[in-house]
Amino acid sequence: MIDTHTHLYVDDYRPEGAPATDFSGQCAAVDRAVAAGVEHMILPGVDREAVPMMLALNDLRPQATSVTLGLHPTEVEADWQEELDEIFSHFDSGRRIVAVGEVGMDLYWDKTTADRQMQAFARQLDEARRRKLPVIIHSREALNETLEVLSDYRDVQAVFHCFGGTPEDVERIRAVSDCYFGIGGIVTFKNSHVDRSLPVIGIDRIVTETDAPWLAPVPHRGKRNESALMPLVADRIADALGLTLADVDTRTTANARQLFNLGKK
Ligand SMILES: [Zn+2]
Repeated sequence: MIDTHTHLYVDDYRPEGAPATDFSGQCAAVDRAVAAGVEHMILPGVDREAVPMMLALNDLRPQATSVTLGLHPTEVEADWQEELDEIFSHFDSGRRIVAVGEVGMDLYWDKTTADRQMQAFARQLDEARRRKLPVIIHSREALNETLEVLSDYRDVQAVFHCFGGTPEDVERIRAVSDCYFGIGGIVTFKNSHVDRSLPVIGIDRIVTETDAPWLAPVPHRGKRNESALMPLVADRIADALGLTLADVDTRTTANARQLFNLGKK
């Protein structure tokens, strides 16, 4: 299994009172995931502050983790161009970066920044195209705007992370992008309709994720999430598609290796 979207580098995993340089809690969370059968974890960037934290955890657990670089749509401030320059300067640090992300559109929290978000999204898609990297897309209450920008980048391989949409949304996205869909804890929620979308997406285009520390799957809903809980997500996907857990594991792992160019195991 691969957790294609997990923020295990954040402070939430640090023991209380420990200094910001202490990554023992984050390392322990990675180790628990590996013990639970999660062989690799993709750590998505969100802003300039996230970069040193991701790199620190990646240095400590280089086999189990990979990093991406990007500016999250809710973090697109007035100085976003400078911030992006700084974030993207790490492409030249000699370290392997597996994707641009997470980027996209979020009009749930703030609609007034829509134009700025669209510009920042397009600039990051340019970077992904130039570097021939996949892009991790965050889209919340903004599917029209997301697809409007993405329609100019049909050649860029994308994953819609934390997908919670309907079968109709799947079709609309596919008209613009032959993308993957990141399925996480939402699929275990009672009121979710994403299980209806899974047969439409098909196992060939599904990758698994947790979005930890958020969106913990049932029966841990509302608590701190972590990558070790990913089997609960994979199990629900297996149920919805009438596949075995082993099948879901094999297929989604192959999809994630292909998407992020991780090579064969
Ligand atoms: Zn995320």
